[in-house]
Amino acid sequence: MTDETTTTQPQEQNLTDSPHYLAQALMANGIKNMYGVVGIPVTDFARIAQGMGMRFIGMRHEEDAVNAAAAEGFLTGKPAVALTVSAPGFLNGLAAMLEATTNGFPVIMIGGSSTRHVVDMHEGEYEGLDQMNYAKAFCKESFRIDKIEDIPLAVARAMHIACSGRPGAVYIDFPDDAVAQTMDKDEAAAKLWTANQPNPAMPPAQASIDEALKLLSEAKNPLMVVGKGAALAQAEDELKEFVSKTDIPFQPMSMAKGLIPDDDPHCTASARGLALRTADVVLLVGARLNWMLNFGEGKEWNPNVKFIQIEIDPNEIENARPIACPVVGDIKSAMTMLNAGLEKTPFKASAEWLSAIQADSKQNDEKFAARINSGKVPMGHYDALGAIKKVYDQHKDVIITNEGANTLDDCRNIIDIYQPRHRLDCGTWGVMGCAVGYSIGAAVSTGKQVLYIGGDSGFGFDGMEVEVACRYNLPITFVVLNNGGIYRGDFENLGNDGDPSPLTLTYDAHYEKMIEAFGGKGYYATTPDEVEQMVGEAVASGKPSFVHVQLADYAGKESGHISNLNPKPVVGPLATSEVTADPYIEGAHM
Ligand code: ADP
Ligand code: MG
Repeated sequence: MTDETTTTQPQEQNLTDSPHYLAQALMANGIKNMYGVVGIPVTDFARIAQGMGMRFIGMRHEEDAVNAAAAEGFLTGKPAVALTVSAPGFLNGLAAMLEATTNGFPVIMIGGSSTRHVVDMHEGEYEGLDQMNYAKAFCKESFRIDKIEDIPLAVARAMHIACSGRPGAVYIDFPDDAVAQTMDKDEAAAKLWTANQPNPAMPPAQASIDEALKLLSEAKNPLMVVGKGAALAQAEDELKEFVSKTDIPFQPMSMAKGLIPDDDPHCTASARGLALRTADVVLLVGARLNWMLNFGEGKEWNPNVKFIQIEIDPNEIENARPIACPVVGDIKSAMTMLNAGLEKTPFKASAEWLSAIQADSKQNDEKFAARINSGKVPMGHYDALGAIKKVYDQHKDVIITNEGANTLDDCRNIIDIYQPRHRLDCGTWGVMGCAVGYSIGAAVSTGKQVLYIGGDSGFGFDGMEVEVACRYNLPITFVVLNNGGIYRGDFENLGNDGDPSPLTLTYDAHYEKMIEAFGGKGYYATTPDEVEQMVGEAVASGKPSFVHVQLADYAGKESGHISNLNPKPVVGPLATSEVTADPYIEGAHM
């Protein structure tokens, strides 16, 4: 609005150009926010889009931009745009694009690229890369706009593919020779379109619903496992109705926490071991039988368990083991049909089964309460997270973002979530470097307060984005639990060159000063009381803020809950260093 170049179109001939037309097409599809890093050839596109009314959040790294946009997709069900420059900027976005696709988060990544025919002849173009083809392995679909006339088509295709079925990422390549094109304004306006039903209901077959209810009604110990597919489907009302009608206990997966509040008496989070070992019929609602559920096999599970799987992607059925009753369709429709089917095939979980779970939960919660209230200084993860829990229980509408190893696992177990889509974390891959980007996307798209909880290692991947939080004055409180290393800070160098060990990071770094450099407020906490007071004050301020929590350097353990994936060498000094078992496996609810 302030600058001629941002809004002026080639008026004299009643023309529009690609940047204006692309912004118009995105807005016609309800896309409001774009996260990105500008440069050749998309700088003016970002400025024009901003001038036309889209919000542009200038990030510091493309991976974080894609994560921010993907978080918006998860939270709102509608894709946002992540914008990158050519080649290296584009490549920086790929890991997050595949992560979004793996998690099932809808997002559209637009990458500027260099002149097509020069790239294709390998003439040595500036940042020359065949980006459309590189992108294919990292998203659901990859397009290139070669002609301005195709812009509405590209956006409509992207909307349908990003949002339908299992959602995910779509890549649109925007080469500089397309950026520079023009067309008649009236003709362009006439060709504009809004994707019709990009996320259509896909009800399952009634026969599969009938079969599911039959299995559930015959079960002795029925259990529902709720995954982030149900959060994406926004099926919280249907799930609550099903639980209240049937008394079925449910195990929430990490990002499904809060669809039904964690303190609901049917929640098995504190009795996961018993629930999984004992359940004979398990209704999977948008949860894959992947590593997080031990592929539905092994000592964690009842060997005779029968699975019912509600899943939108038929390719996912029987990914690892037999499924007694596949229910292929969308969760909202499926749960509505299950609720309706209860009239004909009523079932209720037995009071005996529910009370066994509740007794086990109570016992585990008591053990847990002692651990999170130990008052120990220097603190371990439990002490710090127990103090943060007290704050969170007073601020249940805050969105939590979470990354790290021990910081991730312990936070998931300790901090209850009470509302749908109020927790974002390392996801299906268990990656680091996602949660600061997620925080930005969550704050921008919902306007809610965000509480980032990360380890000192996890935060290191995306920490520069605190500048973005400050520049846009976003209501984010960053809490970094610093034990001075990856897993923990007290590992030794096995050689004698005097360097730190491969796992060691700077223990006495004052991370809170990072936000002070950009005008935010920093805090430094060394006791549980200080954590509670400072996090409480920071969250209540609604301002960009940072609480650096100093843990003991010996707090934490290698690999958190998945030490089985980190095999020990058979010979040499590490062969004898035991990975201690987690004393609270009941809480290991991924
Ligand atoms: P979690 O990690 O919470 O266990 P996963 O990401 O493994 O969850 O599984 C979520 C599943 O939900 C995916 O297989 C995805 O295809 C599916 N899904 C996503 N959206 C829907 C929907 N609207 N209806 C049905 N299934 C869905
Ligand atoms: Mg650490």
